[in-house]
Amino acid sequence: MRAVVTHEAGSMSLVDVPEPAEPGPGQVLVRPEAVGICGSDYHFLTGEIVTPPEFGPQFPRVQGHEVAARIVALGPGCPPGLQVGQRVALFPMSWCGGCYACTHDRRNACPNFRIIGVHVEGALADYMTIAAEQVFPVADLDAPLVAFCEPVSIAVHAVERGEVGEGEPVVVIGGGPIGQSVALCALDRGARVMLTDLVASRLELARANGVEVLNAAEADAVATVRSWAGTAGPPAVFECVGAPETVRQAVDMVSSAGRVVIVGIGHEEVRLPINAFTERELTILGSTVCTREDFAEAIRIVGAHREAVARLITHERPLDGAVDAIAHAMANPGEVMKLVIRG
Ligand SMILES: [Zn+2]
Ligand SMILES: [Zn+2]
Repeated sequence: MRAVVTHEAGSMSLVDVPEPAEPGPGQVLVRPEAVGICGSDYHFLTGEIVTPPEFGPQFPRVQGHEVAARIVALGPGCPPGLQVGQRVALFPMSWCGGCYACTHDRRNACPNFRIIGVHVEGALADYMTIAAEQVFPVADLDAPLVAFCEPVSIAVHAVERGEVGEGEPVVVIGGGPIGQSVALCALDRGARVMLTDLVASRLELARANGVEVLNAAEADAVATVRSWAGTAGPPAVFECVGAPETVRQAVDMVSSAGRVVIVGIGHEEVRLPINAFTERELTILGSTVCTREDFAEAIRIVGAHREAVARLITHERPLDGAVDAIAHAMANPGEVMKLVIRG
């Protein structure tokens, strides 16, 4: 079968590999139909993501964790709700079950988690095998929309962490696919949403999806957002960039007693004023991946907002053109919101 293999950092190509064996007990063989490519795929490809050595060799790896697929074969003991031919979304993650996070209902933060396309083989291939509990039937949704359920599931978890309420003014910093998804999920919960970014095309997409927007290059974002929300500032701010400046901005613009949810991924350190905690009593929350319940909710949200999600899928390319398309997407982040590879 065909597979797009990342051989080592910086090296990816389409090659022929053996097909997976028949699915074992509790396993499902699927044929990927649409695979979304995201920032973490770029970071894996460039070598910025390094998996723990105890997980085994990182390369070669088939990437791809935002997946719509069809069930091809079921191993023994799969749940009766799964049938050959069904279209499904793949929940990308599995966890250890024994750590503090896993035993306190916070499995998504398991330090031993495995994600398809990162720690185990992903979906940029003609076939892949996955555990039945990671397979979610999706009824009548189009394949590219199904692939987008994964980024939306991260947003569902973030708005859940941020306890976004009906009618609340909410600010999202960063208009990439995750920021756009957070804005969509906050709108779905009845919030009033403003998204800030520096890239005009991203702001245009958000505006088309019913989000108020602010070009942070053209205005004092903190002052503008505070007056938009009311004098006290927005009660919830989502940082979806992962940069020290925007984390600081989120802390500066949120209301006293408000919530800052950090969704953007980064490794830099950030300076924060101590009085953000001891005078303004802010709640500063992290958010990572999602739970199975969040994933099911993401499938509902994508189904309820098909037009908005379709607008965010700006590029579709066949598997044979995946390597070039991914290189193009990495070089043109202002043009490519979401690239989907079609099986
Ligand atoms: Zn992703
Ligand atoms: Zn665990």
